[in-house]
Amino acid sequence: MSPMFVPGPVDVAEDVLQAQARPILPHRSPEFEAIFHRAEQKARQLFYTQYRVFITASSGTGLQEAAVRNLAREKVLACVNGAFGKRWAEVAETNGKQVTRLEIEWGQPVTPDVVAQALKQDHYEIITVVHNETSVGLENPIKEIAAAVREVSPDTLICVDAVSSLGGAKLEMDAWGLDMVLTSSQKCLALPPGLALGAVSDRAMARAEQVPHRGWYFDFLRLEKHRLKDSTPATPAVSLVYALDYQLDRILAEGLENRFARHAAMAQRVHEWALSRGLTLFAAEGYRSKTVTAIRNTHGLDVNEINAFLLERDMRIANGYGPLKGKTFRIAHMGELQMSDIDTLLAAMDEFLAKKGLR
Ligand SMILES: *Cc1c(COP(=O)(O)O)cnc(C)c1O
Repeated sequence: MSPMFVPGPVDVAEDVLQAQARPILPHRSPEFEAIFHRAEQKARQLFYTQYRVFITASSGTGLQEAAVRNLAREKVLACVNGAFGKRWAEVAETNGKQVTRLEIEWGQPVTPDVVAQALKQDHYEIITVVHNETSVGLENPIKEIAAAVREVSPDTLICVDAVSSLGGAKLEMDAWGLDMVLTSSQKCLALPPGLALGAVSDRAMARAEQVPHRGWYFDFLRLEKHRLKDSTPATPAVSLVYALDYQLDRILAEGLENRFARHAAMAQRVHEWALSRGLTLFAAEGYRSKTVTAIRNTHGLDVNEINAFLLERDMRIANGYGPLKGKTFRIAHMGELQMSDIDTLLAAMDEFLAKKGLR
C-alpha cells in the first residue's frame, strides 16, 4: 500500500476492501437488514449519540443539503471560515433558504462570542458550522459554540459538518447538545467514497415535521420510517454497508479514545516538523486540526514538484484548497495512517528540502 497523506479519499485497508466483495444481498432481506441494523447501532458510538444515524448512498455534501432542506423553512446562519463552510452556505442558498453568512478570516476560528452576537441580532432556525475545516487545517470549538447557541437562542438547531473529523477527533453529539452531525465514509473512517452518515436528534426530527418541501431522497421522516425497519427508502449502497459494518468493528476494537490519541500524536509530529523547518502553520494556534495540517508555503516550493518527488516513493500530499492552492500545502494524518508512515513521509520531505538547499 502506498500511503496517501491527503484529506480524502484516504487509503482503505485490504480487508476492508475485501469486505465489499461478499455476494450482493437484496436490501429487503432479513440478512441485509441484520447487517444494516448493527452498522447503525455501532455508528451511534462514533457520534456519541443515543438518537439515530441515517446511512445514505451519497457523499457528505448530500447531507449538508439534507440538513438545510429538513430543518429550516427559511433562516439559516452559516459560519464560514473555510471552503466547506462556504459550500454549506451555497447549498442553503441554492435550496432557496435565506442565508446570513457569518464570515470569519480563513485560518481563524469561529468563536462562541461572534456566534452569540449574530444570534442576538436576528433569529435563525438553524446554524451550520464545520467542525474540522479541511481547507485550512482548523478545528472550530464546537462544544463552546453549541453552548453559546443554546444560551442565546435555545430553539436554533445546531448542525455540524464533521466530515473530516468524525472517528479521528472527538465530537460528542448528545453531551454537547448538537442536533445534526454529518460525515462521509472516505475520510477518518477510512472507507471507500460513497456513503454518508448523519446523526439527527429528536428535536431535529420534530422540526422536520414542520418544514415543507423537504424533498424525497433525503427526507428525514421517510428515512426514519425505513430506518425503523432496518432499511432505506431507495436502494442502499449494499457493498459499502458491508465495508462499514466491518470497519466499525475495527474502529471500535482500536478504541475511540486510542484512535483520537493516534490522530493527535500524528498531528503534533507534523506541526513540530513544519515549525522546526522554518515553515508556519495556516491555522491559529490552539485551533489546529488533529486530522490534517495546512502549512504555509513559506519557502515558495512547487507543490507539484514535491508530489512528483513523493510519488517516486509511493506517497502523496495535498495542495492547498481553492484559493490557497500553491500558497499552502496540506499533510493529512487520518484514517489508517500510523506514526511510522508520518516518519517516512517527513524523512522524504526533508530529503526534498535538502535537494532545494533548504536543509
Ligand atoms: C471533504 C469534505 C466535505 C465534502 O464531502 P464529500 O463527501 O466530498 O461530499 C465537506 N466538508 C468537509 C469538512 C470536508 O472535509
